[in-house]
Amino acid sequence: MEGFLVQHATRKQTVFAGMTALLIVLTLAIAAPRASLALPAVGPFMPMCALTVFTTAGIATFLLGAQFTVTRQPVLGALGGAYAFTALTVALQLLTFPGVFTPTGLLGAGPYSAAWMWVFWHGGFPFFVILAVLTRDRFARRPSTTHVGLWAGSLIGGPVMIGAVLGGFAIYAQLPPALNPASDAGTFLNSTTALVIWSLNVMAMVVVLWTGRLRTMLDLWLSIAVLACFTDTSLNLLSTGRFTVGWYLARLFSMFAPGILVCVLVWNVTVLYRRLFEAHASLLQMSVRDALTGIYNRNYFNEQFHKEFDLARRHRLPLSLIMIDVDHFKQYNDAFGHLEGDACLVAVASALTGTVRRPGDFVARYGGEEFAIVLPDTVQRDAGAIAERAREAVLRLGLETQTAFGCVTVSAGCATLTEGNVTGPDELVEAADAALYRAKGAGRNRSHL
Ligand code: GH3
Ligand code: MG
Ligand code: MG
Repeated sequence: MEGFLVQHATRKQTVFAGMTALLIVLTLAIAAPRASLALPAVGPFMPMCALTVFTTAGIATFLLGAQFTVTRQPVLGALGGAYAFTALTVALQLLTFPGVFTPTGLLGAGPYSAAWMWVFWHGGFPFFVILAVLTRDRFARRPSTTHVGLWAGSLIGGPVMIGAVLGGFAIYAQLPPALNPASDAGTFLNSTTALVIWSLNVMAMVVVLWTGRLRTMLDLWLSIAVLACFTDTSLNLLSTGRFTVGWYLARLFSMFAPGILVCVLVWNVTVLYRRLFEAHASLLQMSVRDALTGIYNRNYFNEQFHKEFDLARRHRLPLSLIMIDVDHFKQYNDAFGHLEGDACLVAVASALTGTVRRPGDFVARYGGEEFAIVLPDTVQRDAGAIAERAREAVLRLGLETQTAFGCVTVSAGCATLTEGNVTGPDELVEAADAALYRAKGAGRNRSHL
């Protein structure tokens, strides 16, 4: 079971992802010309968004890593690496951001450290996504279960190490300003750094679309995540400073990129859980049901009858058992064939089921053309009446045969546990069997106590 993540997306899922993409593109189109419009300054907005990105990217890493160790699909581990890189770089950006923890940022950060961390984050994420999807088809064989931990460590640890090195570089190297602040919309492309990260985002979108062709849920939502990152990058580069339309929207989209994948991954796990639950329930049902008639099988009878016997004995209550056998069934099979014989057994089982009404009562196929009816808290006289009702129900089916009665009949034998008359459940079965054979001996189509 691999969930829907790597299976073909349904039409509904594709339409939903398409609408989301359209909404993002529309927002970008409307906001781009107004990116530099100044808005009221909200100090905590940036740290709040950064912390959210850190948390959701961390969760995305964990979920992708977990899915990789289960499915052993390298692309999932590699995408986990891309999100781990995001989590680390956004954390370093937050710590070094001037005015968040201290006026100049923590870790001995220089004036441009946080800006460089932003650049590494927005260039690194699309870069690692490109690597992940490009290597997807390179691994025809999945890593073996013994090496999966090592693989997960390298696929996720690799980008983290690179992030740490870049972080050290951004903090301790005397770097110039990361980006030339754009004086108006569009001039950001004059900055080489801006051009490089913007191109990486465009390339990531092209590669994700080209290699995946939006076939699976992973392809669909990864392309949305990459589109969100592209929009985030573009709006941020288009805005001339903090607290502008572009700057605020860019922060919102930065939360969207890891958030959307977390939603999809959690949804995937939920779907898997539901499938597992259904499979388990159906297995449980199959294990207690008879394949031909659909009523309880011998296994269920054995287990439940023993439980009922113990309960009845402990509470000093009566327990009745009716054994039922189809008369001259061999002859029926010989005359009409085994398929007709099977259909006859299905009809008999259904007629017998209709004769018991109390919640604790049940009918089981004991074996071949023999059935058992278990009646907790039922005295012998009442069990006798139910056995007669069962016999009449089968007779009323009117299944024609060449026997003396003209149609299919059954014989029934009843036995009841009363205080101390039998020592165990097997003895009660033997007593009911003995009564059944007395009914057979007396001419069939009758019930005996
Ligand atoms: P009696 O009245 O003494 O019970 O005679 P009988 O012919 O019913 O008894 P016998 O034990 O000689 O034969 C039982 C027959 O039931 C033989 C067997 O082939 C048939 N049978 C058992 N299970 C199935 C089944 O699942 N499907 C069909 N079609 N026949 C079955
Ligand atoms: Mg029999
Ligand atoms: Mg029989």
